[in-house]
Parts: sequence; C-alpha cells; structure tokens
Amino acid sequence: MDANEKNKNTVDCPSCGAPGVGGIDGCLALFETLGAREFSEMDYFKMHRLTVDAYCLQHPEQYMISSKSAAAHLAAMCWSMEIGMSIHMPDPIKLWVDGPRKYVCSLPPPFRERGLITIADVVGAENPEDYETKVWEWAKSAWSAWSNHWEQARAWVQEAIKEYEINNQNK
Ligand SMILES: [Zn+2]
Repeated sequence: MDANEKNKNTVDCPSCGAPGVGGIDGCLALFETLGAREFSEMDYFKMHRLTVDAYCLQHPEQYMISSKSAAAHLAAMCWSMEIGMSIHMPDPIKLWVDGPRKYVCSLPPPFRERGLITIADVVGAENPEDYETKVWEWAKSAWSAWSNHWEQARAWVQEAIKEYEINNQNK
C-alpha cells in the first residue's frame, strides 16, 4: 500500500473496530488477503479455520445472521479454544451443524466491542510462526468478547460429541 492509499483508508471498521482499515469493505479486503495467503501456503493454511471463526465472531452481522451459522461458528471456536485446533472443522461439529435442530439465538456483543485484537493486528505477520501467534491472539480476543455465550457453546460441543459417539456406535 503506498502513502496515498494509506491516507484514504483512515476509516475504522464499524464492526470489529479495526483502526484505519477503510471501513467494512477495507476490512473484508484484508480478510481476503489473509485467505489468499492461507490457500497458497500450507504453513499459513493450518490457521485457516481459526481465522474464519475469529473474523466471523467479529463480524456477526455478515456471517452469523442465522442462528444456525452463529451456533456453528461459536461451537467451532469453542472447540479450537478448549479441545484443540484442527485444520478442518471437526467431524462431530460438522455433523451436528448439518443435523435438523433449532438453535438458541445468540445476541452478539456490541459493535467494536468484539475483542481488542483485530485483523489489523494479524495482517502484518512476517512468517508462519508469527502468523500463528497473531491469529491465536486474535481468536482468543474474539472468543473472550463472546464470553456470555461460552456456556451455551460448550453445551453445543458436548452435544455434538455425544451425538457423534452414538452415531458411530450404531454403525
Ligand atoms: Zn472488521
């Protein structure tokens, strides 16, 4: 980005609060930049799921409109934070999300109160190790903003695991 372009991009993201990214469109462009890097290099790609969930949790008006998508991102993030990272969505969560059910509606945290660390802190990562550290910090920050929903997310994860086990026993 040259100096002129930088001056244009002084608007914060209204959703996550990322400073000077050029509003919601500029923020999305950064997310696409991260995605492109993740898909071109395996060392970056391993953070992809966490990147997506962190971004979605900070932009719920775009990505968590339906109670189903909200539940999916919260449960997946809960899994990453408390059970372990995975490159792909864990099978129990995938099956659970696809199952027929009604989800409790999740009211998002207020605008710009969705974690102190945003995509703006991640985009400058210089190598895969740095990227991994920064994405973790970002994800933890987004997750902590949703702390009112942790209990619900944990219950969803447990439900998903239980259903997965029952499903496998019946095979
Ligand atoms: Zn944003």
